[in-house]
Amino acid sequence: MELIDGKKISQEIKDECKAKAEELIKAGKTPCLAVILVGNDPASSIYVGNKKKACEYCNIKSLSYELPESTSEQELLDLIDKLNNDKEVNGILVQLPLPKHIDENKVIAKIDPSKDVDGFHVSNVGALCVGQEGFVSCTPAGIIQLLKRSNVDISGKRCVVIGRSNIVGKPMALLMLKENATVTICHSKTADLKAVASEADILIVAIGKPRFVGPEYVKDGAVVIDVGIHRDENNKMCGDVDFEKVKDKVSLITPVPGGVGPMTIAMLMNNVIEACERY
Ligand code: NAP
Repeated sequence: MELIDGKKISQEIKDECKAKAEELIKAGKTPCLAVILVGNDPASSIYVGNKKKACEYCNIKSLSYELPESTSEQELLDLIDKLNNDKEVNGILVQLPLPKHIDENKVIAKIDPSKDVDGFHVSNVGALCVGQEGFVSCTPAGIIQLLKRSNVDISGKRCVVIGRSNIVGKPMALLMLKENATVTICHSKTADLKAVASEADILIVAIGKPRFVGPEYVKDGAVVIDVGIHRDENNKMCGDVDFEKVKDKVSLITPVPGGVGPMTIAMLMNNVIEACERY
């Protein structure tokens, strides 16, 4: 068994972004990300803080809008409108989840697709679906980078994705299809999940259930990507895969922490640079 080192690969990507940002700045274009946080959810504040730190590292300017919980939907839509029209802003990120009185779909739909660096706008999702250029959701885009930079050959392989969320499972399946894998998507209604999962050469798990996937779901020599992030009863971080029980069966596996997690922010930086280059 070998580990896929997400920390190292994400660092490589951030360093590449930093070098590209320097070139862009020399050419008179400063990459700039606007980050909007509504309310004071502690986890969201940490994520936003990490995104701002990554921007600083990569020479990307970040504009921060920290709005009170009481912000109305219209006020948020007006801010997005302003940022859509601001030529200095290349990327707009609205930290989710939003307070209950604000419709997330309306907010995502308001973001100019050419600034939608999270890749959540239906135009970008549609572009991915039909093979056109657009922004791709950062976590699945990061997983493709983990596989490619670990020299995993994707073309022709059997890939099983467990989970069909709009943010991870669905775009993940489309990206693996684009890389010419034969893709199966599983979800909570899949019959005999163990039998389907254990056919995979590449198994990607995004269920949101701690240590759910044990050795009976994994084919000998498979590559396993664990998207889950949890804290167990001892406050220890773990994924959706029972790492200790499957590690001797696999050829390559992502650890939690240090696997998929660090890739999400690295790919966000990559999307901001792309937005600036395309502008
Ligand atoms: P989600 O929206 O809750 O989706 C979970 C998916 O798993 C759903 O499609 C669900 O099926 C399926 N599922 C649930 N129980 C199942 C079961 N027993 N058998 C088969 N399928 C089952 O979760 P998500 O947003 O995709 O996130 C998944 C995990 O990844 C979470 O732990 C999350 O914290 C983590 N995550 C990590 C990152 C990162 O940066 N590393 C980013 C995003 C998410 P149905 O559709 O039928 O309900």
